[in-house]
Amino acid sequence: MPDQPKDDRGKPCSIAGLSPRQIGWRALGLPSVTPDPVTSQEQRQTTGPEIAIALVGGVIGWVIWSVGIAPLIGSTLWIFGDVLAQATFAVVVSMVFWYSFLGWIRRARFDRIADIYLGADRCASCGYTLAGLTPDPDSRVVCPECSAAWDRTRLGDQSET
Ligand SMILES: [Zn+2]
Repeated sequence: MPDQPKDDRGKPCSIAGLSPRQIGWRALGLPSVTPDPVTSQEQRQTTGPEIAIALVGGVIGWVIWSVGIAPLIGSTLWIFGDVLAQATFAVVVSMVFWYSFLGWIRRARFDRIADIYLGADRCASCGYTLAGLTPDPDSRVVCPECSAAWDRTRLGDQSET
């Protein structure tokens, strides 16, 4: 299992959540068409493992249909109907796999994903905006929403001195 994400004071934190809309765009698997730049950038960091998990899920779905479902329901009269039903089932299982492992994959790449959020002046733990906040004496900016602390050098906005 990937490590628990931590902020820059070593305190356990969460990982900024995805809205249903962001998940919908990610389900397409095409970072270049995802409209939100932060989502698109983080998607590029995880596309490889996401596709691998989806493929594994697809193969498992295909096998489950072959050994567990097809013998029960028998065959339709139309040969392509069988293939279509099996392929649809495989795609559904593939998407369930992908969605189930998405949080796991994002935690495994948390350092890089955190850089993307912070570079856009958003808290990597909750997504809240961090622009314009004054760093603490230890050069960490503390999120007003979830109190995660981030090294100010990781933030995009360094106008505060
Ligand atoms: Zn936060």
